[in-house]
Amino acid sequence: MSPAHTFSRPVVTPDDHPVDLVIQAPRALIDGREQAVDVHVRLGRIVALAAPGSPVSAGRTVTLAADEVLIPGLVDTHVHINEPGRTEWEGFDSATLAAAHGGVTTVIDMPLNSLPPTLTAAALATKRAAARGCCRVDTGFWGGCVPTNLDDLPELFAAGVFGVKCFLQDSGVPEFPPVDAAELKAAMEVIAGVGGLLLVHAEDPAVLHTAPTPQGRSYAAFVASRPDTAESSAVQRCVETAAATGCRTHIVHLSSAAGVELIRQAKADGVPITAETCPHYLTLEAESIPDGAPQYKCCPPVRGRSDQDALWAGLLDGTVDIVVSDHSPSTPELKLLDVGDLGLAWGGIAGLQFGLGAVWAAAQQRGIDLATVLAWMSRGPADLAGLEHKGRIEIGADADLVALAVDETYTVVPGLVRHRHPVTPYLGRELRGVVRATWLRGTRLDDELVAGRLIGAL
Ligand SMILES: [Zn+2]
Repeated sequence: MSPAHTFSRPVVTPDDHPVDLVIQAPRALIDGREQAVDVHVRLGRIVALAAPGSPVSAGRTVTLAADEVLIPGLVDTHVHINEPGRTEWEGFDSATLAAAHGGVTTVIDMPLNSLPPTLTAAALATKRAAARGCCRVDTGFWGGCVPTNLDDLPELFAAGVFGVKCFLQDSGVPEFPPVDAAELKAAMEVIAGVGGLLLVHAEDPAVLHTAPTPQGRSYAAFVASRPDTAESSAVQRCVETAAATGCRTHIVHLSSAAGVELIRQAKADGVPITAETCPHYLTLEAESIPDGAPQYKCCPPVRGRSDQDALWAGLLDGTVDIVVSDHSPSTPELKLLDVGDLGLAWGGIAGLQFGLGAVWAAAQQRGIDLATVLAWMSRGPADLAGLEHKGRIEIGADADLVALAVDETYTVVPGLVRHRHPVTPYLGRELRGVVRATWLRGTRLDDELVAGRLIGAL
C-alpha cells in the first residue's frame, strides 16, 4: 500500500447535503498513486478527497467494487467528428457516445473533414450549432490554418478554439489545403502574436513526391509510400520555424523513431515544441498488419516494431508528451474493405472507444503502470489544451471520473463498437480494462443521457 494521501476536510455548506455525490473508492489514482479515498462532489466539481468512511451527508453514495480503480476521465484532443457535412462518416452523437464508453470525458474536435472546415469564427459557430445538444461528453474545438485564413486566426482564437492545426502536405480533402514553408512561418508569427498553439501534421510533400505511389493491397508498399524521412524532414522544418518565431508548436501523431529523436533534441535545445502519438502506433506494428486491410490505413502509417519501441521510450523519457486517438473514421464504402486497395482507400483509423484498452494492455505487458498511462491520456492532453479542471482527480477539478476494472480483459466485437461504423483495426483484439461507469461533472452517464457541454470561450 502506498503512503496515505493528505486528506482535505469536507466543505460544509448550509444545505441539507453538503455534497451531491460521494464515490467511495477503495482504489483511486491520485497524484500518481493508488489509494483509498472518498471523493466528494458538489455542483459537478470535486470538493474534497476524504479519508474512507469520513462522515458527510451526501445526496447519493456510490461504492466501487474491489476490482475497480477510480481514474480521471480521459481527455482526447485529436478526434475527427466530421459533422456537419460528412455526418455519414461520424457525428457528435455517435463519437461522444463511443468516447463515454471508452472512458473519455472530454474530446476536442479537429477542424477538417467537416463542412465547412473550422477556418473562421463563423465556421466555428456553425460547428457549435451542429454540436449543441448532441454531445455525451464535454466537447471543444481546434481551428484550422490554411494559406488563405492567416488574417482570420486572431478572431478564431478569440472565438474559443484551443489552437489551430495545419498540414504541410495534402490533407486528403480539397477544402483544407496545406501551407508551404513561407506560409508556415507567417502562420507561426501570427499565432505566436496571440500566444496561441499550432498543431502540425508533419509529413514533407517533397519527400512524399519522390516516394513510390501507393497502390494495391501490399501493406509494405503503403509504408514505403510514406517513409519516415517525410516525417523527419517535416518535423525538422517545424522545429526550426518554432525556434525562429517562438510559436508554441505541437506535432500530432508522431510515428517514427527519427521523429522522436528530433523532438528530443529540440526539447533539449529549448524549442517550444510538444508531440503526441496514438494508440495504433503504440499497439500495432507493420510486421503483423495483413495485406488488403484498409482499416489499418492511416497517415503517417503504422510502422515497424523498432519505431514502436522508440515511441514508448520517447513517452517514458518525456520526449513524447501525450497519447490521443486521432479517431478519423469514414464510411465502410470509402474504406474499400472488399477491394483492399491501400492506395485508394480513405486513410484514417477509428479507435476513440478503444484507445485506453489498447494502450493499457500494451503498457501492462511492458511493465508500465496505469498512473503513467493516465498521465499521457488524461492530464497530459488536458494540459496541452489548457484545461486545468480536466484530466485529474484533484480538489476543484471537474468530477469527470471513470470506474475501471483494471485487470478485466475483453475482445472487441462489432456489437461493442459505438462509433457510427464498426470499422476499426481493434476488432478481434484483446484489450485490458473495462469501463464500468463514467461520470461527467458528477453525473453518471448512460446511453440515453446527453450531458456534454461545449467548452472553449463561448
Ligand atoms: Zn492528422
